[in-house]
Amino acid sequence: MNFAIAIDGPAAAGKGTIGRAMAAHFGFPHMDTGLLYRAVGRRVLSGMPALEAARALTPEDLQADGLRTAEVGQAASQVAALPQVRAALLDFQRAFAQRAGGAILDGRDIGTVICPDAAVKLFVTASDDVRAQRRHAELTAKGADLTLEAVLADLQARDARDMQRADAPLKPAEDAMVLDTSRLSIDEAVEKAIALATARMAAREFSPIRPN
Ligand code: C5P
Repeated sequence: MNFAIAIDGPAAAGKGTIGRAMAAHFGFPHMDTGLLYRAVGRRVLSGMPALEAARALTPEDLQADGLRTAEVGQAASQVAALPQVRAALLDFQRAFAQRAGGAILDGRDIGTVICPDAAVKLFVTASDDVRAQRRHAELTAKGADLTLEAVLADLQARDARDMQRADAPLKPAEDAMVLDTSRLSIDEAVEKAIALATARMAAREFSPIRPN
């Protein structure tokens, strides 16, 4: 039996943190689908055409250095607006979502396009200011020299592009539970997400094989 958990939301809302914590709790594999678009964006910045980059993507590309920079994030959101690029990445994500047992994917279109039948759909969000502060702290901890205002403008530009694109725009699935993490600690947000998934598992009589 398959049990997919879809986590969507805007940039720096806490999707990745929640996804990783749920993966550790339930023993499910986790895919950060933003990394696929970032890896394509990174190759485009070094001169490769976007579709060629998407078709040539290898697992090693997802481990590359520098995928988390703001520049690569913007390039990712530009290539993510191209329907052929999204189509080239679709099967890989769907196969991951449908593997036997459980799977957790986070991104922008998981509950709407990649995995519309997911057992649990979360739309994780937070205010613009909170998201900018979190991302600013994360980037400066890695040595980046950016102002809070620059980080805020970067997130807002990326979210606007992600929400306005015609193909698979960022939006909550109709049956998604919205989790606003603006006033929640990481532990509180994770606890709520795990409680929701646990309740759905009980309703479906699904038992995860937890890691030791
Ligand atoms: O999640 P992350 O911020 O790393 O994603 C980078 C960009 O990749 C997003 O701004 C978005 O344009 C794109 N993306 C997407 N669909 C996904 C995941 C990410 O369009 N499922």
